[in-house]
Amino acid sequence: MANVLYDALLAPHQTNDKPLLLLKDREDLSYQDLIKRAAQYAAQLAAMGAKAGDRVAVQVHKSAEAIALYAACLQHGCIFLPLNTAYTASEVEYFITDAKPAVLVCDDANKVSLQSIADANSCQLATLNADGGGSLHQQASTLAPAEYIAPRDADDLAAILYTSGTTGRSKGAMLTHRNLLSNTVTLIDYWQITDSDVLLHGLPIYHTHGLFVATNTTLLAGASCIFLPSFNTDDFINYLPQSTMMMGVPTFYTRLLADGRLTKELVSHMRLFISGSAPLLAETHESFESLTGQRILERYGMTETNMNTSNPYHGERRAGTVGFALPGVEARIIDPENDTPVGTDEIGVLEVRGENVFSGYWQMPEKTAQEFTPDGYFITGDLAKQDADGYIHIVGRDKDLIISGGFNIYPKEIELVLDEQTGVLESAVVAAPHADFGEGVVAILVAQSGQSIDIDAVKTEVAKTLAKFKQPKKYMVLDALPRNTMGKVQKNVLREQVADSFP
Ligand code: AMP
Repeated sequence: MANVLYDALLAPHQTNDKPLLLLKDREDLSYQDLIKRAAQYAAQLAAMGAKAGDRVAVQVHKSAEAIALYAACLQHGCIFLPLNTAYTASEVEYFITDAKPAVLVCDDANKVSLQSIADANSCQLATLNADGGGSLHQQASTLAPAEYIAPRDADDLAAILYTSGTTGRSKGAMLTHRNLLSNTVTLIDYWQITDSDVLLHGLPIYHTHGLFVATNTTLLAGASCIFLPSFNTDDFINYLPQSTMMMGVPTFYTRLLADGRLTKELVSHMRLFISGSAPLLAETHESFESLTGQRILERYGMTETNMNTSNPYHGERRAGTVGFALPGVEARIIDPENDTPVGTDEIGVLEVRGENVFSGYWQMPEKTAQEFTPDGYFITGDLAKQDADGYIHIVGRDKDLIISGGFNIYPKEIELVLDEQTGVLESAVVAAPHADFGEGVVAILVAQSGQSIDIDAVKTEVAKTLAKFKQPKKYMVLDALPRNTMGKVQKNVLREQVADSFP
């Protein structure tokens, strides 16, 4: 039997000595070197007892070796489970307990705090550091590269990516070989990615955008990738002249625009700028075009679905819209009141269907069933409308999701932490517009009767429990939360109240 993703993304490059990853301050990694390294890591996964179908949880900094580990998981038939590097040990514990991976790979800096969690879950621990060092690499280097390719068919899982849950419980989106490969094939065709492309990559690789959209398309097209540890304006200004494509979150674009060095000449070699993961302001779109002459292509996707819609490669890239359903993806906008499609320019909930859509949430059959319609559409929870020319506009989020700097933040998770703090009766978390991050997190607290709240103490406690990107950037204390007659907190009222929090 074949191995669907390995055969498409890696096998064709066995003897390809072209650079795949162009690295800053380190030697570039060629396609064939990636494949050799992955085969050694696969041997190390086997030595640690991992079998095909097992999960391999990975909380490591972005590095060429981390991509080799992803490739090793494909080769060995394991399910790659990347975790945000900002997660604290107590957050990681939830994922390990839930997913029961055979192996957890972390940075040496976190080994002490994660060892007991791994032990308690019969999980082997290995380390992989930003510079490629660590026990995984060290031990793998002593092993003969694995020669087998584990058979995996289209319906086997290739990855589980956790999304934060509105109820405070994270859900693991199960992505099959078919889901990932079908979307990769569609994207390289739609965006015309070829082996002449050089992608400027500053995205994290624990998220669908940097891992699948950027890396899988590069591998399938046989392109090269300038693989930077993170976004940094100086590096981007430096590497843009050597690149043909960039994929970014809107914050990348606002930061580049704010830098006086971005000019038309600097990007004259660029073929395509892509934006996604959060709404790109029409204003950013227009400023970018007037400064550089390039029109950003905005697309829309989710962890659960890969990419669903895109503005056209040829034809008008319309600011403030996410374009059209991609080939092979069916999209419809439904009025939740009566379950029928809305008319032109009317707002409803966006639903999608296609090979790109995940197979369900890990060990949550009921939750999975709730999120699909009887005829197989996934209910995205995004509110959208379609204009007379067919362009889809994302107009809001059903679930109060906050997106700050491209990261998803679910208010409920933060509220649960705030509610536990001394003197806090209840809390609400909403977003306020933020010039740099798109949205900034604002916490509204209500004190218990007769008590006062020490905001500094709350901040200290929150910093121990939540990743930095989730921590509120502003706190407010109110006498009571506004509620409707059904007792629901009126977040729209709060949003208006805090709208000017970040001038
Ligand atoms: P994630 O699962 O982290 O990729 O986040 C998915 C969510 O990000 C979607 O459900 C949307 O709410 C939002 N999103 C992604 N791309 C866009 C976009 N181009 N415009 C507006 N929202 C977007």
